[in-house]
Amino acid sequence: MSFQYTGIYWLKNGSEFRFPEMSEYIACVRESMKQPLQAPEFAAAGEGEKLAAASKVFQDNPWKLRRQFNQGLEQIQQDFKDAELVSYGSYRNLYGLCLFAVRAVLGPGIDPMIYTAKFVYNANAVCYLNKVWIYISDYFFRDMITDRDIDMFCEEELVALVGHELGHAACRHTMLKMAGGTAGAINYEYSADRAGLLACTKYLMDKNPGLSYREAAEKAVIYMVSMLKKIDAAVKAVPKKDIVDWHVYNQTAFQNAQETVEGIFLAAVPANPYRAGSTHPIDIHRTRALVYFSESELFCRCLGLDPSAFPNLRSDKMLQNDMSGLLIG
Ligand SMILES: [Zn+2]
Repeated sequence: MSFQYTGIYWLKNGSEFRFPEMSEYIACVRESMKQPLQAPEFAAAGEGEKLAAASKVFQDNPWKLRRQFNQGLEQIQQDFKDAELVSYGSYRNLYGLCLFAVRAVLGPGIDPMIYTAKFVYNANAVCYLNKVWIYISDYFFRDMITDRDIDMFCEEELVALVGHELGHAACRHTMLKMAGGTAGAINYEYSADRAGLLACTKYLMDKNPGLSYREAAEKAVIYMVSMLKKIDAAVKAVPKKDIVDWHVYNQTAFQNAQETVEGIFLAAVPANPYRAGSTHPIDIHRTRALVYFSESELFCRCLGLDPSAFPNLRSDKMLQNDMSGLLIG
């Protein structure tokens, strides 16, 4: 039995996929972790070494996993109890966009099950065996106050959002937190952002065959940041019961930013530059990290291109140096 991820997430309509019994699950985990789990090439926060350590923790103490698995399961069943399955044809092209992101981040041959659910402005992706479950907040498509349909994100932003969540799944961040705790977990966002950037860049190249990979990457950085800023704006509007007019928002807030990558730095400057206790790095750091990555040899390799064909890219060492100023702890 091949094993890809110790996902703790439960499928709402479980009938077409049988989740293994706990004993089978633990046996599967122990077997699969005899070889240390590997991190994807784009990982930014030392996930490779952490996964090796986590594999050992679960080898030695599978019951630790079982306890957390049960707790996680209860939480998820609660959070996604009114999830709705997205099929081809519903919610614009959401299924197609998610499928594209899955192929871009995880590769071929994996079936996504895509749900929308009423949880606040967030998304989630879970991999287990050759299955992927993607949960996307319903509020990205329907205003939670007026209950009207909205177009909050463009297609590129949706691919970036789902790509980001798939990055968490590909790097097995949930498992790393279960094994090693949440210290340093804030840095996992950089890895997830890289996955979002890769997915969005591939999407732009696919949609616009005339674009060079560098042009696509620059645009993808902007879409990543505009996606993050929109979520921020939506979350801030909720407690005040403000209605965000996304049409106006798109016209104004990102008008300058969408023209240049420099402009996006201005858009990314947060009102409150440091949020104590936040689970995410500040947007300006995330933007900087995305630009560094987009200009690196690693990014080129992750797109399947030969970096030696392009001048002035950041070597792996340079990228690591640049990132060391942003990684926390
Ligand atoms: Zn994230």
